[in-house]
Amino acid sequence: MTRDLVGGHPALDLVNTVWWRGDPTRRVDRVPDLPAFLVWAARAGLGPIDVVPDAADPAGAAIATVHALREHAHAVLAAHATGAPVPPAPLRELHAAGAEAMRRSAPRLALPLRWERRAASADEVPDVVAGSLVDLLAHQDLTHLRVCADDDCAWLYLDRSRNHSRRWCSSAECGNRHRVQRFAARRRTRSSSAS
Ligand SMILES: [Zn+2]
Repeated sequence: MTRDLVGGHPALDLVNTVWWRGDPTRRVDRVPDLPAFLVWAARAGLGPIDVVPDAADPAGAAIATVHALREHAHAVLAAHATGAPVPPAPLRELHAAGAEAMRRSAPRLALPLRWERRAASADEVPDVVAGSLVDLLAHQDLTHLRVCADDDCAWLYLDRSRNHSRRWCSSAECGNRHRVQRFAARRRTRSSSAS
């Protein structure tokens, strides 16, 4: 199942692991614990992570940090996508996490110089997440970062369509659901005006 990987960058897909963010009654976290996150990360291509899915995270510290980074990223990216001022506090947290991950990284001794943080144990997973978020925030073009037109969905994506006219996270999901709803509403209007 890859229909949830629509953000255009693994770090955006991570932010989108909260489903129905705009509707507290339906909101669900698709990566509630470390095993679920590791399965998801392998599928989403967020790595490099060499931690087995049943790895121990007894105190839940690794996944708690991943969740915190995800929420900082959501605050920054949702603001940017809607043209609101980017909140400085979560951006500072992301910068600090990225700087820490970089400090612990091993350099790739070739050009272009890159830093790589490979997670071999649970406690190293947040560094890989921070690295992916920094890549998104520092190196990707966020001019056409968008939020899904379905307020309940509120997924984020990079609109790479030619005219930058993409309205939905997925036309097959949110787009289709709204087309069906509009069609049903039109039919109701027509049948009530006919009676
Ligand atoms: Zn959507």
